Formats: sequence, structure tokens, C-alpha cells
Amino acid sequence: MAVEVLVLRESAAGERRVAATPETVKKLLAAGAQVRVEAGAGLDAGITDQAYLDAGAQLAGADARAQADVVLCVQSPPAEAIAGLKQGAALIGQLQPQADQARAQALQARGLRVFPLERLPRTTRAQAMDVLSSQAGMAGYKSVLIAAQLAPRFFPMLTTAAGTIRPSKVLIVGAGVAGLQAIATARRLGAQVEGFDVRPETREQIESLGGKFLDLGVSAAGEGGYARQLTEEERAEQQRRLAEHIRGVDVIVCTAAVPGRPAPKIVTAAMVAGMKPGSVIVDLAAETGGNCELTRPGETVEQGGVTVAGPLDLASMGAVHASEMFARNVYNFVALFLKDGALSFDWDDELLAKTAWPEAPVVKAAEAGAA
Ligand code: NAD
Repeated sequence: MAVEVLVLRESAAGERRVAATPETVKKLLAAGAQVRVEAGAGLDAGITDQAYLDAGAQLAGADARAQADVVLCVQSPPAEAIAGLKQGAALIGQLQPQADQARAQALQARGLRVFPLERLPRTTRAQAMDVLSSQAGMAGYKSVLIAAQLAPRFFPMLTTAAGTIRPSKVLIVGAGVAGLQAIATARRLGAQVEGFDVRPETREQIESLGGKFLDLGVSAAGEGGYARQLTEEERAEQQRRLAEHIRGVDVIVCTAAVPGRPAPKIVTAAMVAGMKPGSVIVDLAAETGGNCELTRPGETVEQGGVTVAGPLDLASMGAVHASEMFARNVYNFVALFLKDGALSFDWDDELLAKTAWPEAPVVKAAEAGAA
């Protein structure tokens, strides 16, 4: 019996992406799987059912969820849908199991092999599977476009018959994957761009994109290449210098995050009050509470002439390319355990073992041989 792979139609509000494309369907077929796709799964990402059929997939019937050995999704299906999946099936996506108690229980009750891709170790080998990076790239890009749209000004310098327009000053807070893409995008739009981060290595990265590194005198490199939480003194110093600087900035795009914690609050209400009317803040960290005190997730508010946007689902706004990248990430992960038409989980492979939730099976040797 061939391994059955099912591509889910997403059900979360605002989700437009899909976890497989015709390109990755072909690769899954070449790896010996049968692929079924739920009707309409790709429509919001510009992929028709016919395009999947042309790639060799079949449309999923009513029994597909109960039969699939491997289920691909972007976000986790709800608890009720999880209960309808086959016992022991592998579920792959940005599942955030801990974010919802009922979902976590359903996943465990069903005995699924759960692979939340956000748990993937960020090693060189894992880069081709790294959904956090691929989706952050789209989010960073869109956040700057939203800022440009909201700002009552040009981003580039213009020399016109009506005189010279000075370029907008854009500050990117946090220079991880999303922040660096935001810097590159704002530069392409012609703005004067500055960025800062607490990881010292970002200076070179910001400068290589044509941005200026804003030195706030705080360095807080943590484990695994991530930032650590700042101490109270460090935070106070960062705040003091930033408050001064922000007065001259037209646009702020916030992207700072610390894994497993709410977004650090960096831009205070008092700092916003010190900004010029007509300034804009786009807070990409809104999903985890926001870097700005005034951010309201999913809303755009105005205070003292400053617009503060907290857009959600930024990656979904670019669903075509975000899905293309997400689907390749997912395929590359599936290829770790789908070989020659059979499933084989090598729990000695840290990419599988560390991604598995709540943890990889302990009987490693037996598992690797039996599956
Ligand atoms: P992230 O989304 O967790 O954080 C975004 C940025 O916010 C980070 O650069 C962080 O340093 C910064 N930040 C946190 N607190 C801050 C504060 N108080 N003030 C200013 N900035 C603050 O991070 P990310 O974008 O997912 O990635 C972070 C790191 O992981 C980078 O070094 C990146 O190169 C690395 N990475 C490695 C791989 C890989 O090798 N596979 C893949 C992706 C990312």
C-alpha cells in the first residue's frame, strides 16, 4: 500500500496559504507517495484544483482524512478535525500545539506523530525546511509596504519641479530574518534606513543591506543564535537612547522577538508621544503582543497624529510566494522520513527528534527499523 499524503484546506481565519504546491506534489509522487488534496485548498494562494490534478494529485474524498498516513497543513486543524485523522498518522505544519489546550489534548489522544515545524533546530542543514525564516521574509517585506501605504509621504528622495523632497527616515527595530528583509525593502523604496538589534553581529548584516546600524549601547546575544531577554538596566539604557533618537524618525517597523516569550516592549507610549505627527509605526510583532505599547493586534490606531498598525497574518498577505516557500520547506522535511514509497523515522536524526512533539519516541532503534 502506497503512503498516502493529504494536503489540508486551511480553516484558520485569515489563512490564505497552502502547505503543498503542484511542484511539491510532483516531488512527493516521485518519492513514492500518493497525494490527495482537499478541494479548494490552494485557491487563496492562486492554485486551482486542476493545477494539482495536472501535477498528478487526486482530489480528497470524504474518507481521505481517516486514511492519510501523512497530513500537511500550514496551521493546525482544530481539535474536532484532529480527532478524525488516522491513528498514528504524521501531522506536519506550524502547529503551535501548546497554544491551545484542546488541540494539544486531541493531538496526543490520537497518537499522532506531531511535527510542529517551528520547533525545527535552526542548523545549517535545517535551513531548507525552516518555515520561520521563509515566512518571516514575507512578513518583513509586507510590513514595510504597509508602512509606505500608511505614511503621508514619499519614501525616496525626489527632485521635482516643485522642489526637492527629502527621503523618509525609516527605523527597523530588530534585525532578524523579518527585520533584514524589511531593511532591504525600505532601501529599495529609497528610504534612509536605520536598524538596531541586541545581537552585535547584526551590525554587519544591516550595513551590508545599505542600512545604518543604530548603536543603543546594548548587546544581548543569547543561546542558539537568538537574543536573550534584557536585564532591567540594559532595557532602561536602550529606552533612554531610543527615546532621544525616535523624535527624528518618520517610520518605525518593529520586528523584535525573543523565542518563547511575549514580544519585548521597546517603543513606549511616551516615545510615541515624542514622535512627529504623521509618523507611522508598523508592529510586525503584534501576533505576540507587539513591540510598541500602543499596538492593538489586528488594528490600526492613531494617537497624537501617529498611526500605529498591528497587522496579523502578514505572510498570508503574500500567499502565493509564501506558500511556494512553505511547501518546499514542508517537502524537504517530509523527505527526511519518506523514502522509496515507505515511511521510516530515524530518531537519531536530530531534525526529526527535536521537531517531534511533545518528544520523540524513546525506543529509537526499534522505531527506525520497524516503520
Ligand atoms: P526572532 O524572530 O526570534 O527575533 C527577531 C529579532 O529581534 C532578532 O534578531 C533578535 O535579536 C531581535 N531582538 C530581540 N530582543 C530585542 C530587543 N530588546 N531589541 C532589539 N532587538 C531585539 O529571530 P529570527 O529572525 O527568527 O532569527 C534570529 C537568529 O536566528 C538570527 O541570527 C538568524 O540568522 C538565525 N537564524 C538561523 C537559521 C539557520 O541557520 N537555520 C535560520 C534562521 C535564523
